[in-house]
Amino acid sequence: MIIDCHGHYTTVPGALEGWRKSQIGSLDGSSPPPKRSALVISDDELRESVEKAQLRLQRERGTDLTLFSPRAMAMAHHIGTADTSLEWSRQCNDLIHRVCTLYPRNFAPVCQLPQSPGVPPANCIPELERCVKELGFVGCNLNPDPSGGHWKEPPLTDRWWYPLYEKMVELDVPAMVHVSASCNPCFHGTGAHYLNGDTTAFMQFLASDLFSDFPTLKFIIPHGGGAVPYHWGRYRGLAQDMKRPLLKDYLLKNVFFDTCVYHQAGIDLLLRVIPAENILFASEMVGAVRGVDPETGFYFDDTKRYIDGAPGLSADDRYKIYEGNARRVFSRLKLPA
Ligand SMILES: [Zn+2]
Repeated sequence: MIIDCHGHYTTVPGALEGWRKSQIGSLDGSSPPPKRSALVISDDELRESVEKAQLRLQRERGTDLTLFSPRAMAMAHHIGTADTSLEWSRQCNDLIHRVCTLYPRNFAPVCQLPQSPGVPPANCIPELERCVKELGFVGCNLNPDPSGGHWKEPPLTDRWWYPLYEKMVELDVPAMVHVSASCNPCFHGTGAHYLNGDTTAFMQFLASDLFSDFPTLKFIIPHGGGAVPYHWGRYRGLAQDMKRPLLKDYLLKNVFFDTCVYHQAGIDLLLRVIPAENILFASEMVGAVRGVDPETGFYFDDTKRYIDGAPGLSADDRYKIYEGNARRVFSRLKLPA
C-alpha cells in the first residue's frame, strides 16, 4: 500500500471561495458575516472536484491513500480574528470530512487549526477535538507563523504552544508543521516561506528540550524538511557545539520528513542522509508545483517515480517510507478492510 501523507484540497468547488470572500468582506463591518449554512456544496460537486484531479492522479501514479487536508495557502490565519479563523476552519474541515466519507479508501482526514496571530494556540483545542473525536481526523496542520511571513509568535518550543501539544499527545495525533500564505513580499509563498518554515521549525526543535517534556509528540516537517537534509552536517555540528544530544538519539524519535522534493537528486540525498524510519512518502499533489519537468517528461510532483528510481533502496526501507511509517506516525489511521 502506498500512503501519501501530504495532500491538500486545492480543487475545492468555487462556492467555498465565494463564502470566504463574503466572510472577509464582512470584516470591515459593512455586512454581517455569512452563516455556516450559507455554504451549499453537493456531494456530486465534491466528487467532480476530486475525480479528475487527486483521484485520477492516484490511479495514474499508483498511490492508494492520501492524507487530505484543507488548502494550506488558503488557511491564511492572519486574516480577521480568532472567530474568523474558527468559522473558516470549520467550513474547510467539514468539506475534508465529507470527501473522506465519500472516498474512505482514497482519503483520510487531516485538519486545519483555527490559529490567529497573538492568540494562544490553546484556542485550537475544541476544533482539534471535534475533528478527531467526532469526525475521525488523524492529524492536524500546525502553522508556526500565523502572521504569514512576519514571525511574531514565540518559537514552537515555547510553553505558549504546550496546551495544544498536551491535547495532541492525549489524542495521539501528529502535526505537520505547515505555514500558510506569505504576506511578506520578501518571501514567495511556496518557494521561500514554506521552506523557511520547515527549516526554522527543525532548528527550533534542535535547540530545545521540547521532546523531553513531550516524549510522544510527533511532527512531520514537509517539503523534504526544507534545507535540513542538505545541511545535515551543519545541524549535527550545531547540536554538538550546543551540547545537545545526537540528532539520531533525540530529534529523530519525534520528527519526521516527507518526500515532497521534486527531483531525483534531492530524493537521493534525503534517502541517504535521513534514516528510512523518519521518512514518509508524500507528493503534495495537486499543489505547489503543477508542471511537467522537461528534463524527464513527468510531473515534478510525481514523487513516487523518484522513490522507485532511488538506487539501492531496500524493500524493507521502501515499505517503511510508503506505508509503515505513516501507519506508525498517524496511529489513528484505520484503513478500510
Ligand atoms: Zn502542503
